[in-house]
Parts: sequence; C-alpha cells; structure tokens
Amino acid sequence: MSKNLYANPRVTQHNRLPIKHDGQIVIYWMQRAQRITNNHALNLAIEQANALHLPLVVYFALDPAFTSGNLRHLHFMLQGLDEVASKAKDLKIPFILDVTPPVSGLTKFSNQQNPALIVGDENPLNYAMQWRKDLAVTLSCSFVTVDADVVVPTSLFFKEEYSAYTMRRKIKQWIPSFLQPMKDVVPVFQDKLAELLQKRHVHRPSALADQLDVDSSVAPVVQFIGGTSQATKRFRRFMKETFAKYSHLRNKPEAEGTTRISPYLHFGQVSVQQLAYDIQTTTGLVEAKEALLEQLIVRREVAINYVTHNPLYDSLKGCHEWAQKSLNKHMSDLRPIVYLYEDFEQANTHDPLWNAAQVQMVTEGWMHGYMRMYWAKKILEWTETPQEAFHIAITLNDKYQLDGRDPNGYTGVAWAIGGKHDRPWGPERQIFGLVRYMSYESTRRKFKSKLYIQQYS
Ligand SMILES: Cc1cc2nc3c(=O)[nH]c(=O)nc-3n(C[C@H](O)[C@H](O)[C@H](O)COP(=O)(O)OP(=O)(O)OC[C@H]3O[C@@H](n4cnc5c(N)ncnc54)[C@H](O)[C@@H]3O)c2cc1C
Repeated sequence: MSKNLYANPRVTQHNRLPIKHDGQIVIYWMQRAQRITNNHALNLAIEQANALHLPLVVYFALDPAFTSGNLRHLHFMLQGLDEVASKAKDLKIPFILDVTPPVSGLTKFSNQQNPALIVGDENPLNYAMQWRKDLAVTLSCSFVTVDADVVVPTSLFFKEEYSAYTMRRKIKQWIPSFLQPMKDVVPVFQDKLAELLQKRHVHRPSALADQLDVDSSVAPVVQFIGGTSQATKRFRRFMKETFAKYSHLRNKPEAEGTTRISPYLHFGQVSVQQLAYDIQTTTGLVEAKEALLEQLIVRREVAINYVTHNPLYDSLKGCHEWAQKSLNKHMSDLRPIVYLYEDFEQANTHDPLWNAAQVQMVTEGWMHGYMRMYWAKKILEWTETPQEAFHIAITLNDKYQLDGRDPNGYTGVAWAIGGKHDRPWGPERQIFGLVRYMSYESTRRKFKSKLYIQQYS
C-alpha cells in the first residue's frame, strides 16, 4: 500500500477499518466519475491494487429506483458506460454492473469478493453523502472516496465560500499545484481475475436498459451522444474552431460559442483537470483562456463548494440571509402575470424569448448559459412565491437538462432566484427586492434574439 493514501487531499476515509491483509481484490466503486482514462479515483485504486499485488474490479450499481433521472439521462449515461466496459476489458478489468440500489449492491458484492480496500469517487450531493454514510457501517474493509472531478480538491476549502470572488482569491493559489498533466496507471495483477472477467464482465451496459423502470416521458436527444470519446471529439472541435472567439461569443445564445461539454462533465465522462490543462497549455489566446478557465474551475468549483458545505442547496433556505429577507419582504407584491408549473413546462408564456429557451431545453437537453439566467429569473417574476419559483426551476432543470441534478444547477438556480454568490442590487424592486433583475428589453438587445427565437419557436 502507498503510505500516503490517507494524507492525499483528494482522499476521504469513511470508516475506521484498515486495509484487509487477507483481501483478494481491490474494488473501484464507480459512481460519479464514469470514465477509464484520466480518473484520479480509478488511478488511485489501481496504484493500491498494484502495491498490494492484487487485481482490481470496477463495480457499478445502477439504481432502478433512482427517482430524478429519466430515459434521456439513462440513455446518455449508458452510452458512456458501454465505452467504459469496453476500455475496462482492454485492461482485463472486470466491469461488474448490477441493477440494484448502491448500498445493498456494493455491500453484497463486497461480502462475496472479500476486498482489501474499496475506493469510490466523490459526489457532494446529499443522496450520495447518505450512501457513503450507510456504506461506512456495512463494509468490512477500509472504504475511501477520491475527489476525481475537480481541479483543486474540495477538502482544501474548510467552509462555504461567500462568492466567486472569495473562491477565486483562494483557488488561484492552489491551481498551479493541481493543474498538472494526468497519467493513467495500468493494473498488473489482472490475470488472477480471468474467471470473473469471463463470467461477470458486462460488455454492453446499454442492453440492460429494458430492465429499468424509468420515466420514459422525456426522450433521449440526438444532439448529445454519451461517452468519453464523444466528449473528447466535441472538445477538440471546440478548441480548433471556436475557442479563440470564446470570450466574444459565450453570451450569444444564437451562436455555438461555448463548449457544450456540461453533460459530459456531469456524468464524469471527461476529466475536468485534463480539459483545463489542455486549455491552459494552448499557445496564446490569453483572454479566451482566462474566460473559459474562470467558468471551468472558479465557477464550477464554487458551486461544488456550496453543495458540499450547505445541505440546503436545493432550496431558498440555502441562500444568503439578505436575499431571503428581501424576497420575503416582497412576497405579497402584486404579480401582474402568474403562471403554473404546466404553463412553464409547455413553454406557454407570453414571452417568446423565455419560450424559446424552454423549447431548447426540452428538445435538445441543454440550454445556453446566458438564457439559463434569464429563464430562472423570469420564473421568479411569474410565480406566487420565491419558494415556488425555486422549486419549479429545479424541477424543470433536473428533468430536461442532460447536465441537470448537478451542483452547477442547484447553484445556478440559487444565484438567479436567491442571489447566491451575488451581492444586493439596488434600487429595490417589486418581487425581486435586492436580487439582481434581468429585463426582456435589455436581454434581447444583447444578442441576435430574433434568430434565437426563430431557432426554437
Ligand atoms: C439557472 C441556471 C441553471 C444552471 N443549471 C446548470 C446545470 O444544471 N448543470 C450545469 O452543468 N450547469 C448549469 N448552469 C451553469 C451554466 O449555465 C452551464 O454550466 C453552462 O451554460 C454549460 O454550457 P457549456 O458547457 O457550453 O459552458 P462553457 O461556457 O463552455 O463552460 C465550460 C464549463 O464551465 C462550467 N461552467 C460554465 N458556466 C458556469 C457557471 N455559471 N457556473 C458553474 N459552472 C459553469 C460548466 O461545467 C461548463 O460545462 C446553470 C446556470 C444557471 C444560471
């Protein structure tokens, strides 16, 4: 075993058990980081397995009752897992996929296989924290997780950051140490698992889709095909064709001016560190680099910091006190226009720009970032209470966006509706109070909004 396992800032141990000296394998419980390359969690699991002279298994539990996902998400995820299974096989790593809730599934698998160590990947959302707590008492060997989907380990920030400004100041000191090239580790004792590989390796996870009773009302989309190779292809094309214009185009919803990599990041099909490293080491293009790394590292990691430290991240209660007070003070303001959830869902508002954004999300599984801000702020303006607005925005975002159910989504909604990571904006307004406002007129003038509306009418 590498001596430094527990001292690594990416590693958290969830129980107090030692690595089992008579263990037969090391298990990597793949959860959030759904990739075989550039994966800190997998690499660490392989390193440990090699040091212990043991083989490694990748275990994946596909929860049949996972409530907020639907066919759109499942389809994309399984496309990615097909690639994972195939790359794992090339390395002689059995990829075991059980259709089961993770806690009972991993516990059962571990009881059968007698692992020396179980390594998982980190996921800061509440449900995943609960899984880890439950597993900590059911597993009988050391159980750690690795923070594989951030550039700078989340553990280096001890508390909730107030804003992107406070995060930026701290994270910039750490970036040079962590924004390094990644190198994959190869397992060397896999021959011991030839039988398990033959019997239990799942070659095509997507074939299991039929066994899952998921909500099929939200159809898969053709605009995004899941998998690491698709993510890489998309990113390379962006770097070649669009990156130089990123700072100019990124707030133009009618143009393809951003990476559209967020669904791949959400499912961990691509490594954020590798993307950031490729951006950082591009020659020239200082402005574009700064703008994209700000989103990819500072904004994304302040969102992860928020959900890690604030379990109320999916409600208005997680937002700053000034914003909650101000919104509550304006709760009884007259709302000239009020819509219900169904009106929003069916893009049935009086505002063609808002409707276009909603249609983009429903039909393509992704909405442009600039429109996301407008979209959520208008939900606040057109509902009876900010609490209801928050709930509607999260529900629609999680249902239709391929990148939904993500720290970025909860933080984005909290920013737009609850002033999270923002400051009070005077003068005080009806409904919004001191929360920053966006008007139809000024928003539509900032880009070719007619073209965008035409694209999604
Ligand atoms: C109301 C609202 C809801 C949002 N919901 C989600 C969501 O569900 N999932 C999601 O991933 N993002 C969400 N965002 C953040 C952001 O809009 C998207 O990440 C971005 O538009 C995705 O497009 P892209 O990959 O082309 O971004 P690019 O501009 O190419 O940026 C690259 C990456 O940087 C990160 N990033 C970019 N903007 C932000 C931001 N404002 N905050 C945090 N990270 C950012 C993302 O990981 C993104 O993929 C939301 C924002 C708002 C205001």
